Amino acid sequence: MSQTVSMEKIVSFCKRRGFVYQSSEIYGGIRSSYDYGPLGVEMKRNIREEWWRSMVYMRDDVVGIDAAVIMHPKVWEASGHVETFNDMLVESRTSGRRYRADHLIEEATGIDAEGMSPEEMTRLIQEDERIKDPVDGGRDFAPVRPFNLMFETYTGPVKSPENLAYLRPETAQGIFVNFKNVLQTSRVKVPFGIAQIGKSFRNEITPGNFIFRTREFEQMEMEFFVEPGTDEEWHEYWIEERREWYTRLGIRPENLRLYEHPKEKLSHYSKRTVDIEYNFPFAGWSELEGIANRTDYDLRRHSEYSGEKLEYFDQAKNRSYIPYVIEPAAGVDRILLALLVDAYHEEEAPNAKGELERRTVLKLHPRVAPTKAAVFPLTKKEPVSAVARRLYDDLKGDYRLFYDDSGSIGRRYRRQDEAGTPFCVTVDFDTLEDKKVTIRDRDTMEQERIPIEAVRDRLAKLISAS
Ligand code: ATP
Repeated sequence: MSQTVSMEKIVSFCKRRGFVYQSSEIYGGIRSSYDYGPLGVEMKRNIREEWWRSMVYMRDDVVGIDAAVIMHPKVWEASGHVETFNDMLVESRTSGRRYRADHLIEEATGIDAEGMSPEEMTRLIQEDERIKDPVDGGRDFAPVRPFNLMFETYTGPVKSPENLAYLRPETAQGIFVNFKNVLQTSRVKVPFGIAQIGKSFRNEITPGNFIFRTREFEQMEMEFFVEPGTDEEWHEYWIEERREWYTRLGIRPENLRLYEHPKEKLSHYSKRTVDIEYNFPFAGWSELEGIANRTDYDLRRHSEYSGEKLEYFDQAKNRSYIPYVIEPAAGVDRILLALLVDAYHEEEAPNAKGELERRTVLKLHPRVAPTKAAVFPLTKKEPVSAVARRLYDDLKGDYRLFYDDSGSIGRRYRRQDEAGTPFCVTVDFDTLEDKKVTIRDRDTMEQERIPIEAVRDRLAKLISAS
């Protein structure tokens, strides 16, 4: 069952089936960078697609944008990232390794150190003998210091301070700086949202847990602008809405929970933040998504720093105000990992001869499954294979489909079970007579026989209905 699946198993499964590879592996790999293979890329696209569908297409009050990764450096001064987007770094003098000080303290003592000042952490590390360098057990640490997580780069050929730029550490700011553009060019009225999906970059001190924490990752963020005073209600609304999104995609509700950030640990812009956490078998409860009440902090700061008025004029009430913002911010990579872990099953199942066999099956929701269906001819020979090929060619423009004519049908089913393909369509000798094919369900392994010309509609219904 999924709760016992180890990280090693998931990592090797992801590689073996072409979901995720270590980046630059032929050169020994680079820590914390991963590449998505043929199945992974499809699944990632499906996750984005599902998010966009529910956040933008299904709503009348949300529009999308796609902003640049490299923005004006002042954006990050205004947003507070230059000053406060830091993790606490501690260096061990014995091994030369660097650690996140709060993690080092918490792992050794159970003390929750997030939010402590560098001085407090330094003192704690010096005084508490339980805190040791995990590599060599040493207790000689340099003073804790803040480390800014933004990746720096230079625009143009001259590496001078005035050309300093950053790779965005969150997609949100691309939305705030376009608030006025969107207001002026689309007919949105508060309350409304702007959604964006894209890469973000953070120079994490200790990336890890496979694709859970990397230095380059993809975010799906939506800034929902509301009238001040209605923000708390909207916050509740989005927490529920977002939690349901995960259960609709098939994540087991018992593996999801909400985590309320304590007041003293809130980010500099937040009035209240609630995370949606997933119970990863290897890391315990960890954040998939944060839903923050960012107040009017960002628009107000960008107003101050840019000199542009970033207000909304409410015609009905004949007054202007700076809207408050509710932000659901999720990570594509973390969601993909959670979906895989939740769907991974090893179970006993009868084969064609009725004998019990071990099967690995990814019980992914059809909407996120990399391949929606596979088409098999019972034999490679004509005319059965020609009929199967025709069916495949006819359907393949609708979604990712897979054609497989090698090995026994049982073997072909198992391969698709492992890849999470929800439906397999088989063309056999009887098809030549009755013009019917069988559709086999991945999870129940039940088969139904339907006319070949009904396959398109049936699959469309099966994929969208579940
Ligand atoms: P954490 O506490 O785990 O570092 P965070 O609270 O800093 O995360 P947010 O700033 O709220 O994260 O970002 C929103 C989402 O972006 C997170 O819920 C997560 O899904 C994703 N995310 C953030 N940092 C990373 C990362 N280094 N690797 C992968 N995904 C990330």
